[in-house]
Amino acid sequence: MEPYRPHEILIEQGEENAAVVRRALAQLPDVPVRIVEREWERHTKLSSEGDPFAAGKRRLLFTRQRAPALHYCPAGTPGLVCCNYLVISLISNCPMDCSYCFLQEYLANNPTLKVCTNVEEVLAAVAAVVDRHPQRHFRVGTGELSDSLALDPLLGFSRNLVPFFAARPNVLLELKTKSDCVDELLYLDPKDRVVVSWSLTPPDIVDSEEHRTAPFAARLEAARRVQAAGYKVGFHLDPLIEYPDWEAGYRETVARMLAAVELRRIAWISLGSLRLTPALRTTIRRRFPHTRVLSGEQVPCIDGKWRTFQALRVHMYRTIRGWIQEAAPQVPLYLCMETAAVWAKVFGHTPACDRDVARVLTGPHLSPPVAG
Ligand code: SF4
Repeated sequence: MEPYRPHEILIEQGEENAAVVRRALAQLPDVPVRIVEREWERHTKLSSEGDPFAAGKRRLLFTRQRAPALHYCPAGTPGLVCCNYLVISLISNCPMDCSYCFLQEYLANNPTLKVCTNVEEVLAAVAAVVDRHPQRHFRVGTGELSDSLALDPLLGFSRNLVPFFAARPNVLLELKTKSDCVDELLYLDPKDRVVVSWSLTPPDIVDSEEHRTAPFAARLEAARRVQAAGYKVGFHLDPLIEYPDWEAGYRETVARMLAAVELRRIAWISLGSLRLTPALRTTIRRRFPHTRVLSGEQVPCIDGKWRTFQALRVHMYRTIRGWIQEAAPQVPLYLCMETAAVWAKVFGHTPACDRDVARVLTGPHLSPPVAG
């Protein structure tokens, strides 16, 4: 995978000596640097010419995080089964550029790639929450507004995150990625509290839709390496893309995924349909006119997002679930952002409550599957 290289580095005044800034500047000595005032991006009007969202990915901004550190995953929408996932956003925006990425809409007017300079403070705020509730199990991820690892060679955040979470028996950290940037992880001890997970689509979809991500085979090799180093691994077949050869594509994906790692140490696998707001569909058509992700039949759903129509979606889930459970019946499997009705059609029953899902996924050891 090509290392990330911004066109410009912006540093909020006063943050020049933050450890992450010094580390990045040492690796990018010839990239132009500007010192900018606090909240520069909110006060600056950027050109709407060309592709401002793509340009924003190349404008690296270091700034202090002042907003609360820990949030509920925004996927928790009334009417959908939720897995009680919490997110920490140390990075906002992503160096990669998948055609279906929701950030194109979510960050459309915020065109920088923003990195937090005060990671220790953010983690202290997280500690204040999770350490106050030692009897509760938390599942926390950093891959909501960015890829968790794509910038790790540049920023080295895993050196802060892994020891912090490894020391806390009631929290499981998930680092979710489409990269193969795992070198920094190999020398840290996850103490069984860190899951490194990969989002996978079939290899030809990776090549045509997931621009600047690591190739399919490289992701699986990275999964094998981190598992050998003591991490649990996870996989997200999300978004599931419906295209003419989806069945052959996903059969190959599942077979190669399960052959690459030790099944006993897969923490979870999720399945999730492609889901797009109307505005995002418009943006995708404009930015990726040759995409295949809009070729299937999609319908509006309870949360206002468009998904593959339900009968086909359920057929896809059941087919893929069958392959996974035939080869790896012990691996926890769940659906992301689906209704109780779809859960029932796929698994034969629904979780009694959202916490059922969370409990299975955060247990101190690998637990039986969510659904039979
Ligand atoms: S890797 Fe994730 S965050 Fe990055 S562009 Fe792709 S979908 Fe978006």
